[in-house]
Amino acid sequence: MLVINQSTRFLILLFTVFITSSLVLFYKKTGCNFCKHLNININEITKKENIMPVVILGSGSAGMSAGIYASRLGFKTLIIEGEKPGGQLTGTTYVENWPSIQRIMGPKLMEDLKEQNQKLGVSFLQDTVVSVDLAKWPFEVITSDGLKINALTVIVATGSNPRVLGIPGEKEYWGKGVTTCAVCDAPFFKNKNVVVVGGGDSAAEEVLQLNPYVNKITMLVRGSALRASQAMINHLKNVKSLAILYNQDLKKIIGDDSHVTSIVLWDNKQNKEINMDIDGVFLAIGHEPNTQIFKDKLKMDKMGYLELEGRSQKTSVEAVFAAGDVEDHVYKQAGVASGSGIKAALDASRFLQEIGFSPEVANKIQNKYFEISEIGPSKVTSISSLDEYKKEVLESEIPVVLDFWANHCPTCKQMLPSFESLSKKFSGKMKFIKVDIDKAPELVKELYILKVPSFIVFKGGQIVARYNDVMQKQQMESFFGQFID
Ligand code: NDP
Repeated sequence: MLVINQSTRFLILLFTVFITSSLVLFYKKTGCNFCKHLNININEITKKENIMPVVILGSGSAGMSAGIYASRLGFKTLIIEGEKPGGQLTGTTYVENWPSIQRIMGPKLMEDLKEQNQKLGVSFLQDTVVSVDLAKWPFEVITSDGLKINALTVIVATGSNPRVLGIPGEKEYWGKGVTTCAVCDAPFFKNKNVVVVGGGDSAAEEVLQLNPYVNKITMLVRGSALRASQAMINHLKNVKSLAILYNQDLKKIIGDDSHVTSIVLWDNKQNKEINMDIDGVFLAIGHEPNTQIFKDKLKMDKMGYLELEGRSQKTSVEAVFAAGDVEDHVYKQAGVASGSGIKAALDASRFLQEIGFSPEVANKIQNKYFEISEIGPSKVTSISSLDEYKKEVLESEIPVVLDFWANHCPTCKQMLPSFESLSKKFSGKMKFIKVDIDKAPELVKELYILKVPSFIVFKGGQIVARYNDVMQKQQMESFFGQFID
């Protein structure tokens, strides 16, 4: 009979406790929902409808580059454009660092990339993804319009959103002097004094976009040096109206209810508070990755950037790849995002080949591919004069929504497809009218427009709501929908 003495028993107990806690720690760290492998059987897809071999979420330089490669590799490819069609480059002016093109407007570069994708047969869906079921394959991708797509591979290229400070007055004066888009709103600050918060390339861009309009720009940098590239710093040297204040933390934004009038700063070197009279606050303090819909589904770091496997673009779930600013917190360049989009498409292609998605299989399911269906022409109209405003808005028998937009405002243009789509959905129940601010100065004055995009909802000739920020389609639908009887 085996005799176990007391010290051996103690050692066994210690060993058991060690193994159990290590397993618990390992499980917590990796999260085993991240490490599971999917039960993939290529023959199963013939039972499905609305199939798409490659679904790309996002249409910035990462998504568009992935589209070019995936379609040229022979796979039917869908790009779901997302909240910001064209991505961040549509919010810049000149791009001077895209290899082989010396100087091009950011929006033009993205238009060209879209055209190249379309010529290669890539389909574009003007919609936003609200969820992706990664628990079973093919993955069910659900959009804000309620479309369901069975994706054999997913490339997440959802980019990032501008960061905000979360200080008093920021929310209250959003659109009343506080903004993140100089390219949209600079014309509202003619001969005014503004601050740009941040010291990176985005802040430098904001300064260059504001320069032709404003009286004085003060750049507020929290540290003792700029983070912007030397090329951008050289551009800043030519801006006569620019002053740069270092070691400044913006603590509070103050206004008179209708717009910003001053700010409170904390000089973190001299430890003293400074009050500054100001008309506008432009925030350019970096971006946060757009990965909320993948929380607890894909492995990400504590800042929300998706984690990749080795040198590939593979995420923690098989058949899901990521590219661009959702996974890159180091380089954050359009060219790098483009390269990672190419890698993601190559990884997706390899995966499809490995699971046996051959031309024969593709042929078998050719009637089962997801198709984009159009639902009639847009019902959006335009007005520019006070007379039209009186007739079309104030005397309207049904609620009216005015969308103040501008050609120089990328986010306004990005929201137009959603606005148009809702005009069809709410046809006869609500009028959808666009106002181009550059062609309607009287209306801009009459309705106190200080920012684009701005939406005003009228009911019975009275203003019932205002909203002056970017909205996703779903948000727009519930916001406008509440005023429909
Ligand atoms: P960055 O992260 O490069 O810079 C952010 C800036 O905001 C830094 O000065 C940072 O200060 C400051 N900041 C961050 N948080 C706060 C805060 N809470 N309060 C005050 N200041 C804050 O972001 P960008 O958006 O400027 O640039 C992102 C990437 O895009 C970069 O790689 C950039 O090169 C690229 N880009 C390139 C352009 C071009 O080439 N034309 C144009 C725009 C962007 P601190 O330095 O102390 O951290």
